[in-house]
Parts: sequence; structure tokens; C-alpha cells
Amino acid sequence: KRRIIGLTGGIGTGKTTVSNYLASVYNLPILDADVYARDAVKVGSTILNLIAERYGLDILLPDGTLDRGRLGNVVFNNFEERRWLEQQIHPFVRDRIVEAIDNFNLHPTVVLVVPLLFEAEMTDLCTEVWVVSCSQQQQIQRLIQRDRLTFEQAQLRINSQMPIDQKCAKADVVLDNSSTLEFLLQQVDAAIKSFEC
Ligand code: ATP
Repeated sequence: KRRIIGLTGGIGTGKTTVSNYLASVYNLPILDADVYARDAVKVGSTILNLIAERYGLDILLPDGTLDRGRLGNVVFNNFEERRWLEQQIHPFVRDRIVEAIDNFNLHPTVVLVVPLLFEAEMTDLCTEVWVVSCSQQQQIQRLIQRDRLTFEQAQLRINSQMPIDQKCAKADVVLDNSSTLEFLLQQVDAAIKSFEC
């Protein structure tokens, strides 16, 4: 039976760190929902046109691409708008993932990196769900450092997601990334082996 690993966790918890490791050390194909979500709103796409209709042309940058910062400030401050946006994007992403899983059907194991795996109800696509977890304080610290967000912006983005405890409760594997990178990657090795027959 094929292994379809759904890798998720809060924003800035270490999903990319884990998927880079799985790709480089285990040669696993990585299907990244963020890539598809960006495709969903590329110039000329139906969804980008809907966004521009709803929020005005100010939501675009001078070159016609989406101003993600501006859109982020709209949807992370307004639940209804976030829900509207997700209703546009999630079905598109889901279709692309289903298609990609099929395209990689010769690989016995593939990894789906889906930040909103639970929120978008995509767990049915996976045979096992891994959640990367760290404390909220560490999440905020990493987001401020990596994305240059303010403390308040980081907190808003974290609070827009399902609480990490709830995600951990639904996981088959919890990867604790509150300590060193080495500790995290040891847990990844163990998780890969634990399901091997
Ligand atoms: P996003 O949801 O924003 O895509 P992510 O879950 O993919 O984030 P990463 O990009 O892997 O998270 O990690 C977030 C930041 O924290 C990165 O800058 C990464 O280098 C750093 N980081 C990850 N794990 C650790 C660790 N154990 N110790 C210190 N820094 C770490």
C-alpha cells in the first residue's frame, strides 16, 4: 500500500525544514500546497480576477500580481473575508494535489505539505498525518526573524489557524520542534521507520 504522508502544523513550526530533509535524505517527492495556492492566484487566473473584483485594483501590485501583504492584512483581520478567500482557493488546491498524487503513482511514498490540512479538510487524501509542533512563543520568534513580521502580525496569523494542541490531538505522528534541529530530524527518521513494513 502506498504511503501518503500529510505534513502539517502551525505557521512557522518547521514544516519546510522537515520536507527539505525528507526530500534530500529519503528522496521523497514533495507536493507543496503553497505552490498550488500561488498558482491559484497567478495573473490571468479566475480567482485573481475575483479577488480584484471584491477588493479593488489596489489589491494588485503595479505589475498586476497579487499584493499578498495587503491581502493578508485584509483576511487576517476579518474572518468572513478569510473564509471567502479559502472557499475560492481550497478546492483548486485539492484538485491539484489529487492530480499530483496520481502523477507520482510510481512512488511508494509521497509527502503532501499542507499548512491548512485540517482546516481545509484534506486529511482524507493521506494515509498518515504528521504535525510539526513548537510553542507559540517560538513560532512568533521564528516569524518575526524570518518574515520580518511584527509581533502583532505574527500573533494574528497564528490565531487564524486551528490551535496547535488540536492539530496534535488529530495527528498520527507529532514532531516536537521546540528544541534543536537535530532532535527534530531524529524524530523524522523514527517516523519514517515506524510505518515501514
Ligand atoms: P511556514 O508555515 O511559514 O511555511 P514552516 O512551518 O515551513 O513555516 P520553517 O520555514 O521550516 O517553518 O521554519 C520556520 C523558521 O524557523 C525558519 O527560518 C527555520 O530555519 C527556523 N527553524 C525551524 N526549526 C528550527 C529549530 N529547531 N531551531 C531554530 N530555528 C528553527
